[in-house]
Amino acid sequence: MQVRGLRKSYADTVAVDGIDLDIEQGRVFALLGPNGAGKTTTVEILEGHRTRTAGEVSVLGQDPGTAGRAWRARIGIVLQTAGDAAGLTVAESVHHYAGYYPRPADPDAVIEQVGLAEKARARVKQLSGGQRRRLDVALGIVGRPELVFLDEPTTGFDPRARRQFWDLVRALAADGTTILLTTHYLDEAEALADDVAVISGGTIVARGTPATLGGRSTAKVTVSWLDETGPRSLLTDTPTALVNELSAGGRELAGLTISRPSLEDTYLELIGGTR
Ligand code: ATP
Repeated sequence: MQVRGLRKSYADTVAVDGIDLDIEQGRVFALLGPNGAGKTTTVEILEGHRTRTAGEVSVLGQDPGTAGRAWRARIGIVLQTAGDAAGLTVAESVHHYAGYYPRPADPDAVIEQVGLAEKARARVKQLSGGQRRRLDVALGIVGRPELVFLDEPTTGFDPRARRQFWDLVRALAADGTTILLTTHYLDEAEALADDVAVISGGTIVARGTPATLGGRSTAKVTVSWLDETGPRSLLTDTPTALVNELSAGGRELAGLTISRPSLEDTYLELIGGTR
């Protein structure tokens, strides 16, 4: 996927203000950014669901603005909220969606994969919020897409469901599926993404891997421990030397922790938030 100079203006708002993106086949890419940053606008343009004001966009080799049904069958979209088909059962919905695609996965296997086997006969309107999201994911992947868009996929998931969902995303990626994810959970981006970009005010303010974003891997390290006077903490470029010095003569350091800025710390700094 290639994006050059993408812009989108609404009447009096510039939502996306010149974005370049390159996402390689088979990678998991996370788009991060605060509310109103322009993530959904960008993603919906890439999905072919919104027009753009300017810029070049190529998704699976085609312009989403003009691509047809055959292209659409190669992508999978997991929407933030899908409200249709509330009267159908889970199994009926997934089977029904499978019928839209030329070479779908086995719908029952997909239901199992998203952890809804026990709810296969339940009506969609009877599902809990997290179960409903799992169904959205099932509908997004049943067509065996080459590229999946996941817009805030785990909002409302309990911690175990999130981990199960992460495993599912990893399995899709291991199969060669390209994934574009938006999320407000930095741990999710860290767990899943090969590459991340931070978008703020319609422009990309940083990009990299979760480990290197914003100079994270070379940032100073905090060494904390306890001594007779109470908790102590030092910021250092050379944590090994510092710990060696502190523990000279084999002294055990109580409560020793060594930490680099979390992805969330780095992210908040990048978008100008408070820590
Ligand atoms: P969130 O994290 O809250 O989902 P986002 O990064 O996805 O935010 P967008 O939905 O892309 O942000 O919105 C970017 C900007 O464009 C916002 O200022 C928003 O108010 C504006 N915007 C989005 N859709 C429209 C629209 N249909 N008409 C006018 N303005 C819009």
